[in-house]
This record gives sequence, C-alpha cells and structure tokens, in this order.
Amino acid sequence: MHTDERPDEPAWNSIPIAAIEHYAYCARQAALIHLERYFADNAATARGQWAHDTVDQTGPSTTPDGTRRWNSLPVWDSSLGIHGICDVVEFHPEGPFPIEHKSGSYRPGGPADLQVAAQVLCLRSMFSAPVPHGVVFAGTHRRRYEVPVDATLETHLRETIANLRALLQSTTLPPARNDARCPPCSLHEGCMPEAPTHPPVSLFTPEFLDDQDD
Ligand code: SF4
Repeated sequence: MHTDERPDEPAWNSIPIAAIEHYAYCARQAALIHLERYFADNAATARGQWAHDTVDQTGPSTTPDGTRRWNSLPVWDSSLGIHGICDVVEFHPEGPFPIEHKSGSYRPGGPADLQVAAQVLCLRSMFSAPVPHGVVFAGTHRRRYEVPVDATLETHLRETIANLRALLQSTTLPPARNDARCPPCSLHEGCMPEAPTHPPVSLFTPEFLDDQDD
C-alpha cells in the first residue's frame, strides 16, 4: 500500500516525540498515524488517555516536600528536530527531569525509553542543564522507573529519529508485522496485519473471473 506523494514538508522539520514511541513499537503504526492520519482507540489507549488527563492540568505547582513541578510542559530541540509535551517535569537542585505517565506496565528497553530519552535531550537543550535520566511512572505497579539516558541510548534515539524522518518523507507504508505486537495494537482492525501483502495470483486468473460470472 502506498500513501499519496508527500514532498518534503516544513511540518517534518520537527517530529512529534509521540511519533518516536509509535515508530519504536511498529514502523507501520507510525506511518498509519502520522502519514495516513489513521487512529483508533481501544481499552489500552483509553486508559492511557485517562492517565494523561490526570496530569494534564497545565502549569506549575509545588509538592508538599517543596519540589517544583510543571505539568504539560511543551519541550523541543530544534537541532534534533523534535518537539512534544512532557506530562510532568520536576525541578530539583541538580536539574530537571521528565516524568512520563503510562497506564500499563513498564518494559526496560521498550519504546517508552526512547520517548523519555527524547524528552531528556529537549530539557538538556532548553535549560542547558545536565539531565542524566528521565522517569516512567507505570500505572499498573504505581511506581516510578528511572531511565538513564547514556551515550548508547542517545545514539539509538538519534538513529531512530533519522529513520523515522525518512519514513515520514516517504510514500511507502511499511509492511505489517503480524506478530505479538498486533493483537494489543489499537490500529489492528484498520491495519489488518493478517491480510496478505499481495493478493494471491489466482485472483487474477481467467478461472477466477469465470467463477465470478457464474
Ligand atoms: S496491527 Fe501490528 S502491524 Fe499493524 S500497526 Fe499495529 S503493531 Fe503494526
């Protein structure tokens, strides 16, 4: 399947950080959402939206222990060409760090790590501060997981952004994975990962056409 011609567009000069997470999960998912503008909710995305809504009151606040926080803080890094909104940024004497709220569980090394790493690099750029790690708050276990953003993760992030940018400037929808990622994916119904990439040749044989005439 191909998308319409999409020449270089100014919009892709800056990539939404959410697209990085989508791409890390499945390149086809990123293309469906950010190229085809196709999106569908399921129970997991509804829970995720609820989790974000709980922190989406924009603006500053102070926790009872005196920690300054900012909910829904817009962040960007123009040299990397990425932008997004951090659920929460906490400001500590040693520097700020982002907290990404997830309704489910946390898997180390998964797409959330790249999302948080992108937020960390934005904060480093915006505040000229050392931001050694970000945090994922996993609703399932109601606990924080620290995500160190070292050189290895930063390199992985930069490669992912480059690959994603190429995808967003292309006209080709990546093939479906059709693996364990598909059943829980909210785009499953529209994506149809079980469908053959190419129809069987027999569909186009004269015998098939003859059958249709009966
Ligand atoms: S259903 Fe599978 S192949 Fe399709 S977008 Fe979701 S994860 Fe990717």
